[in-house]
Amino acid sequence: MKIAIPRERRACEKRVAATPETVKKYVGMGFEVLVEKDAGTASRYMDDQYVAAGASIIGSMQELYSQADIVLKVQRPLLASEGGEDELGCMKSGALLLAVLSPYSAPEALDAYAKQGVIAIALEFVPRITRAQSMDVLSSQSNLAGYRAVLDAAYEYGRGFPMMMTAAGTIAPARVMVLGAGVAGLQAIATAKRLGAIVSATDVRPVAKEQVESLGGKFVMVESDELKDAETAGGYAKEMSDDFKRKQAALVAETLAKQDIAICTALIPGRKAPTLITDEMVHSMKPGSIIVDLAVEQGGNCTLSKPGEVVEVNGVKIVGHFNVPSRVATDASALFAKNLLNYLTPHVKAGEGSVELALDWADEIVAASVLTRAGDIVHPNFAAPAA
Ligand code: NAD
Repeated sequence: MKIAIPRERRACEKRVAATPETVKKYVGMGFEVLVEKDAGTASRYMDDQYVAAGASIIGSMQELYSQADIVLKVQRPLLASEGGEDELGCMKSGALLLAVLSPYSAPEALDAYAKQGVIAIALEFVPRITRAQSMDVLSSQSNLAGYRAVLDAAYEYGRGFPMMMTAAGTIAPARVMVLGAGVAGLQAIATAKRLGAIVSATDVRPVAKEQVESLGGKFVMVESDELKDAETAGGYAKEMSDDFKRKQAALVAETLAKQDIAICTALIPGRKAPTLITDEMVHSMKPGSIIVDLAVEQGGNCTLSKPGEVVEVNGVKIVGHFNVPSRVATDASALFAKNLLNYLTPHVKAGEGSVELALDWADEIVAASVLTRAGDIVHPNFAAPAA
């Protein structure tokens, strides 16, 4: 069986779905691995390293896809309907495609996968159960995004983070507030603390309090009975009532005016990100303050953030970089590639001189992540209801 690793073609994407380390593992299992020329170059994995790991380098996209039984990607393939290269159209019917497929933001692609006959697996749908932790691309990538967000803030901030007592005078520590204390937020807290900042954080899930405090952050939260029911069974936040939002806005406004840096990470799955920093709050911040909005691609936590831009309003810089994990591409690729390897390994059946990938459709992880199969959309969130 042949596994293909294409070069990612979408804008601002430097990651790659397999590293020389994971390629070596696939080759060891008996797979033939084809890597598109320069697939890993942007994340510092070079063609000769893939060759040393046992892969073949393929120069043409068509040649790569047309041979592949399994395609490993970071982002969803380009479609003919997007008007440029048609990655999906080059794929074989029956091929397995694994990537972050973003079906909520690109629902039209589901029909295209079904029509092409590919088995499309959306890695972001892997359930967050203990057994699947090593396959969880959301966690591996969010963790790095939280880390990078603080470094991006430090880069834009014209001052230091730690308190420094020098012969020439004392520098006060930076005050950092993290909005949303999930995977990205907790790593942002840890990173800001390591740099010497005084850190506070807020979230709607009460369990976050202990996690924030264990990292040395101060938890700032609205007192409300509504919090008892703020978390879904899957551990995600729910959308809060208007009354709660008003109370939270007052608390955030009061805290934010005293901060130097805000790192926004708050998300609600399948919905627009909650608005937590309004125009007015931005105006209340000191000139020289920084806001990094990691939620910018889901509509933003800050009303003034612009996707893909760094804007300045009254001396406050608002950072809205696209695809922040890709800004740490080497590590992000290494972890993403490991997540993929961990997803596939339990389904590999190696025989005498042969290898087969036989996905177990009844497996809880596979069932939750397969979108299309045998020409149909099979995921319950997207399949047409039976007549
Ligand atoms: P996420 O990216 O969906 O959201 C980021 C954070 O924003 C969350 O903590 C959420 O509560 C918070 N948020 C949403 N609305 C908010 C608001 N109005 N104000 C303030 N904060 C708000 O979340 P995530 O980082 O993917 O993590 C979600 C949960 O899943 C967490 O409980 C995490 O610990 C858990 N998790 C479990 C596993 C596992 O068991 N395998 C793996 C990863 C994450």
